Amino acid sequence: MARMVILGGSFGGLTAAFELKRVLGRDAEVTVISGDKRFIFLPSLPWLIMGWRRQEDITLNVADILRPKGIQFIYEAATQVDPETSKVKTATREFPYDYLVISTGPYLSFDEIPGLGPDKGYTDCTFDLDHAVITGKNWRRIIEEPGPVVIGSSQMVSCFGPSYELAFEMDAELRRMKMRHKVPILYLTSEPYLGHMGVGGLGNSKRFFEDEFAERDIKSIISQAIEEVTPGEIRLRDGTRLPFKLAMIAPPFKGVPAVAPLGNPRGFIPVDRNYRHTKYKGIFAVGVAMAIAPPEPTPVPVGVPKTGFMTVKMAKTAAATIFADIKGLSPPSAEELNVMCIMDMGNTAAFMKASPVLPPRQESITKKGIWAKWMKVGFEKYFLWKMKHGMSNLP
Ligand SMILES: Cc1cc2nc3c(=O)[nH]c(=O)nc-3n(C[C@H](O)[C@H](O)[C@H](O)COP(=O)(O)OP(=O)(O)OC[C@H]3O[C@@H](n4cnc5c(N)ncnc54)[C@H](O)[C@@H]3O)c2cc1C
Repeated sequence: MARMVILGGSFGGLTAAFELKRVLGRDAEVTVISGDKRFIFLPSLPWLIMGWRRQEDITLNVADILRPKGIQFIYEAATQVDPETSKVKTATREFPYDYLVISTGPYLSFDEIPGLGPDKGYTDCTFDLDHAVITGKNWRRIIEEPGPVVIGSSQMVSCFGPSYELAFEMDAELRRMKMRHKVPILYLTSEPYLGHMGVGGLGNSKRFFEDEFAERDIKSIISQAIEEVTPGEIRLRDGTRLPFKLAMIAPPFKGVPAVAPLGNPRGFIPVDRNYRHTKYKGIFAVGVAMAIAPPEPTPVPVGVPKTGFMTVKMAKTAAATIFADIKGLSPPSAEELNVMCIMDMGNTAAFMKASPVLPPRQESITKKGIWAKWMKVGFEKYFLWKMKHGMSNLP
């Protein structure tokens, strides 16, 4: 029986585990190891911050959803992968594997910028549930005691959507409460232009964001790196100082330390078109953990986002490739990677699509409409249902 070890219990890890068990059944022993016992639907964290969702609305218990499928769950963080002996190590145990799928997401590298982050610094964050809960409290404080808000992304970020979403959602909510004039909103970004999103823009995204920000009086500063954050002030590399009462700044992304030695200098794992490690044939990496080279050099370095949609596709391709390997079949031909994303804008939403994800492209669009907001709500409900029931074979 082939031993499959999956690192991470989120979009990529759960999809890979369900798919491997589905196609291999009794021929595979599938073990998921994760440092979090919850599956959190991360795309809803901005709604949690705004008070539009509760934790229990967007969280599933990983052990409960894996058990009925005959998948073992280990609630422990991996500390090391030894590719020479094919073992994953945790603080207490070792897990030998025939195939390893890594989907450990990003390491949020606050330490690269002095004063950044909610734990040791002065800024908020929307990238994990516990941080988002704190951000939500600080947002409610802004409503009681208004002051300037800065939202955005530092250098080396590779997920820009949530910051745009929060800027729009806070704007819409403040207008609803008739107090927008009391809270100046500044969008600060490492992107070379608004709407770049780490992928060289999607359709008319540059003009789209410029127009939407102008209409909503959201000021922006582009192509900037952050030097330091002190209480109530962000200092940029060019010396500009930005005062804030609330700052939600996405930190630089890296690979998580346990798997970073298998990766490039930032710890992201190099893979082929089937998400197999370029050196170690039994190791696959999907989602945020894998490496994609940026489409173009930018004055301030930014990373390519790997969205939930992309991550699920990667995990399915990796699982199908492992299945083919075990059965002695030729590997599936890898699909072109597309991106589809729905960005909430508070009182409306935008649908963004790029196919393939990096230019030159066959299709590249950004469209706004209330229909996109309903699609976003539908995506949340559908994806949580799909994960709860292990229906990874559905789109
Ligand atoms: C606020 C926000 C909004 C987003 N909005 C959208 C959206 O609208 N649409 C969309 O498609 N995508 C969206 N995304 C992106 C999407 O959430 C990610 O693409 C997806 O979560 C990536 O999945 P992953 O499995 O690669 O990693 P993650 O979801 O980051 O999961 C990593 C997993 O690995 C575990 N882990 C980490 N270190 C270890 C270790 N050492 N040992 C064991 N386990 C470990 C973690 O506990 C976690 O379970 C959003 C992301 C965020 C943060």
